[in-house]
Amino acid sequence: MKANDMSESELFKAAQNMESYGGGFAEAIALAYFRADSTNQVRLIDAFGHLFERYAPVQTCPHCTRDLEDAQEIADGLCSSDDCPRHDE
Ligand SMILES: [Zn+2]
Repeated sequence: MKANDMSESELFKAAQNMESYGGGFAEAIALAYFRADSTNQVRLIDAFGHLFERYAPVQTCPHCTRDLEDAQEIADGLCSSDDCPRHDE
């Protein structure tokens, strides 16, 4: 997923992952992101989106581990695939 397509909460979680698991630079960008106003947050995403992408929380269906793809799937926390074993439960 591109950083520009990530929701605010996904970016926030990515920044938390950068702070916890990133190197010194990713951690510094995360701290800058937490302190930035929305204008400067956009600038950070434009410049360092690749870091937010690398540390983005991957959201997967808990039943089949497929990556969730659209807003409805993410809201449900489930994939909408007919092949998903959740239909058998
Ligand atoms: Zn599934």
